[in-house]
Amino acid sequence: MNKFTYARATEASVAVADNVGIKQSKFIAGGTNLLDLIKENVERPDHLIDIRRLPFKDISENSEGGLTLGALATNADTAYNEKVQQQYPLLSKAILAGASPQLRNMATNGGNLFQRTRCYYFYDVATPCNKREPGSGCSAINGVNRIHAILGTSESCIATHPSDMCVALAALDARVNVIGTDGDKTVDFADLHRLPGDAPHRDNNLEAGDLVTSIELPSNNLNYYNYLKLRDRQSYAFAIVSVAAALELEGDTIKDIRLALGGVAHKPWRDKTAEQQLIGKQATAENFRMLAAQVLSGAKGYGHNTFKIELAKRAIVRAFTQATKIDQ
Ligand code: SF4
Repeated sequence: MNKFTYARATEASVAVADNVGIKQSKFIAGGTNLLDLIKENVERPDHLIDIRRLPFKDISENSEGGLTLGALATNADTAYNEKVQQQYPLLSKAILAGASPQLRNMATNGGNLFQRTRCYYFYDVATPCNKREPGSGCSAINGVNRIHAILGTSESCIATHPSDMCVALAALDARVNVIGTDGDKTVDFADLHRLPGDAPHRDNNLEAGDLVTSIELPSNNLNYYNYLKLRDRQSYAFAIVSVAAALELEGDTIKDIRLALGGVAHKPWRDKTAEQQLIGKQATAENFRMLAAQVLSGAKGYGHNTFKIELAKRAIVRAFTQATKIDQ
């Protein structure tokens, strides 16, 4: 572990300026991922800016009839918030599928967005990893890759994004409010995280110093939902495959449908073209199978993780049939 300086931010603009002023500067709030990374020498910041005292903890109604989630509200406070449970039960369920009660009590919403992959090689500083050390190679592609990605991969990296919360946020068309050195901006959730391409060391599209202040959840008419997480043990494990499924049904007819996958790509995976093809169709197992086949049509296995292609298809069908209580 390297030496670093520490500052406690009392104003967001000062925190942003401080972050860009020092080369390896990091914001820290709950620290549930960053402290592990520092202890393992994966992250080596020169300076930590503690943002926990900034006023971004509220969960409130927004002008669109949805909710605004403060970036510093904890995952536990968000999952158990009455309005979140009433309006966005999918989100509540996804958060509670992640980590452990102790971690959810510490972890913040903002931090959850920026947790880093759990690729074994990323944490093992003795092995090549393009994400940790650009240009060094990817140990996972020809290595042990059971937990790795099958969609949107590149020759540089096949890591997955580890969050459950982000899978639900992707399905809910969330937006992220950011303060940066150039002022305020709002980023669509779909544009927040990146696919690895030839720059897997960049997890997201934010600039140095950008600080997330809140997450906007637009209102919707989704009346059926499910978050299905498949993992190696029932609690405190990352997803092998997870599915955020939500529908607006009128009778049996699909008026709106949302599907996001976790555990299969470098970012929560959505295929809006495939979703659109189900609008106006009946909510049947056969139609959900068609959707699953299309979403996974471009999937590629790397050996140990090839089973995920069929598993993801079956998980999609199960998530939607459970949500709508129809037979598979
Ligand atoms: Fe590193 Fe990505 Fe390869 Fe894992 S999959 S070793 S994070 S480059």
